[in-house]
Amino acid sequence: MSQANLQTKPKKPPMALIQAMMNVTNSLQKFRAKMMPPQVAMVEMINAYQVSQAIYVAAQLGIADLLKDGAKSSEELAHLTGVDEQSLYRLLRSLASFGIFAEDEEKRFDLTPLAVTLQIDSPESVRAWAIMSGEKWHWNLWGNLIESVKTGKTAVEYTFSKPNIFEYFVQDSQAGNHFDEAMTNLASLNNSAIATGYDFSGISKLVDIGGGYGSHLTTILKTYPSIKGVLFDQPSVIAGAKEFITENGLAERCELVAGDFFQSVPPGGDIYLLKTVIHDWDEPNAVKILKNCRRAMTEHSKLLLVEAVIPPGNTPYFGKLLDLEMLTTSGGRERTEAEYRALFDAAGFKLTKVFATASPWKIIEAVGVS
Ligand code: SAH
Repeated sequence: MSQANLQTKPKKPPMALIQAMMNVTNSLQKFRAKMMPPQVAMVEMINAYQVSQAIYVAAQLGIADLLKDGAKSSEELAHLTGVDEQSLYRLLRSLASFGIFAEDEEKRFDLTPLAVTLQIDSPESVRAWAIMSGEKWHWNLWGNLIESVKTGKTAVEYTFSKPNIFEYFVQDSQAGNHFDEAMTNLASLNNSAIATGYDFSGISKLVDIGGGYGSHLTTILKTYPSIKGVLFDQPSVIAGAKEFITENGLAERCELVAGDFFQSVPPGGDIYLLKTVIHDWDEPNAVKILKNCRRAMTEHSKLLLVEAVIPPGNTPYFGKLLDLEMLTTSGGRERTEAEYRALFDAAGFKLTKVFATASPWKIIEAVGVS
């Protein structure tokens, strides 16, 4: 696709439409799998790891950014990235067969809508997610999935002798940065769906527990100008969040607090938001975090979890594979609504409502029971 075509591409579809399209894609994939001989469908799925790692390499080399001003040959790209030309050509040819880059008759590669998602500044960027997924520390964890299935422990335990990734990041801060950037990246795709998926009006103080760099919090604060925010996370993450919050012009309205949610969390918020935090932990740890929130809350405060709520049966849902990510990396799990109710019971909360959003995430609202 030429740059001119890219500039005239239609406006971004709303999230509800994206969700509907994802459902259609799921059904089409299932239909396609049914029409294919099962062994062919299986080989496609087995080989998906090759696509994933090839995307990682292109993302890591920044190829999509180098094509911003138009198509380039593999020679030019190899020169700019300092890699082997023939190998790079083969990589890009493979990716082009999936619609990621397009090769022209002069053997130059150009951007496609999929390739644009690997650009660092694209609003649809998933580059940081691609990089984290393919980095050796993360790749090896999935390579050891079988150990988690055998023992019920994280693959981090088997691979790095640490109980979970958060403790591993203490010794490998670069991996920690990859994770924080990947989370910010993924968050940016769903921020507005979450900010508009719940009525935050009338709220004075929102405390975002384990908020990472604050991607969700900044979107909510921008959508609701009268809310003040508190971003709470581990000291190493808060150090990185400072720049993000300042860049977003929210330094005045957002307090940054470093701490450990197993010890305590900041008091007095009207809303305690935990987006994809509880899924990182097993029952005893999740209950500890929730109890600390309960202690910090006033009688009017509400708790909001943003999580993947696992649907029953064979329904396709991204949270089912994300659950394996939790198994290998953090020792947590994705839960059904009934499992969230049980967790709340154990921590002194009552589930009040589950809100669907224009994204795959759900907002689970709970209040403290006295
Ligand atoms: N809410 C963010 C990040 C979720 S990842 C988002 O959805 O994008 C889980 C977060 O929990 C990470 O930012 C991690 O640093 C934080 N975390 C893990 N252990 C913690 C602890 N003991 N105390 C405070 N935060 C912690």
